[in-house]
Amino acid sequence: MSLSDEDDAGAGRFAPSPSGDLHLGNLRTAVLAWLFARSTGRRFLLRVEDLDRVRPGAEQRQLADLAALGLDWDGRVVHQSRRRRLYDEAIARLDEAGLTYECYCTRREILEATSAPHAPAGAYPGTCRDLTDAERAERRAAGRAPAIRLRATEEWYTIHDVLHGDFTGIVDDLVLRRNDGTPAYNLAVVVDDAEQGIDQVVRGDDLLTSAPRQACLAELLGLPGVVYAHVPLALNHDGKRLAKRDGAVTLADQLALGHTTADVLGTIAVSLRLADPGEPVSPALLLDRWDPARLPREPWVFEGS
Ligand code: GLU
Repeated sequence: MSLSDEDDAGAGRFAPSPSGDLHLGNLRTAVLAWLFARSTGRRFLLRVEDLDRVRPGAEQRQLADLAALGLDWDGRVVHQSRRRRLYDEAIARLDEAGLTYECYCTRREILEATSAPHAPAGAYPGTCRDLTDAERAERRAAGRAPAIRLRATEEWYTIHDVLHGDFTGIVDDLVLRRNDGTPAYNLAVVVDDAEQGIDQVVRGDDLLTSAPRQACLAELLGLPGVVYAHVPLALNHDGKRLAKRDGAVTLADQLALGHTTADVLGTIAVSLRLADPGEPVSPALLLDRWDPARLPREPWVFEGS
């Protein structure tokens, strides 16, 4: 297959942050991303989102866990920490188009402003949007380093999600570069997805509200849109998002209990209604049975075992 044929096929991806081990909910999302990509003839790419919160050894364990479950991926694993030039270029392009500004607000100032009655939930109130040169100089002189924000042209943006239908969310003046110089997640994701030829984004539905921002940013950068599928999260028995403290939730924990990787894939498959309890499964079998219409729309409650 020539490179251009591969490009035509598009690509899906899994993009873990190496801040710790993947738990069963993360592994389930990875299986889903793999199924969505492979069932539509797409390549499947891995991207390590290591711009912050890196725990030594976590990346290696995450990749080993995905491989142990039988998931395969195409090409080299990409690391955000090695792609700063791409993010800088994107910010420079937005800057040239007059679509950025410096923001000197502290976290606390933003929190105070956004907790005012009638403030749109989670949106930056625009405090620094129209600072005069003198006001900017004053803040700089006070020793504050600025973050760079998008001068958003839209307040709302609508995306289409395979599972959620049309979803409209707030855009606001999102951060492009944090005040410590680190490119912001929303920017990096948009730049990377386009640069890697990714046209299908499957991830946890906690990120659904970020999708309109990201899609709007992609449009401003002249980048192609993607197909979204935000999949249900895994919860613990209290209905809270599954976390390390919930017991044997990682692959290593499960193996320590005497389960095999095939058992764990089986547990995930049952949760996706792709297998019966105790039935031996493989990724190929799940792909054979895969039908996104049958995917449960409610969160998966992991009771532990
Ligand atoms: N790195 C993010 C996470 O692990 C996922 C970002 C994305 O899929 O867009 O939650």
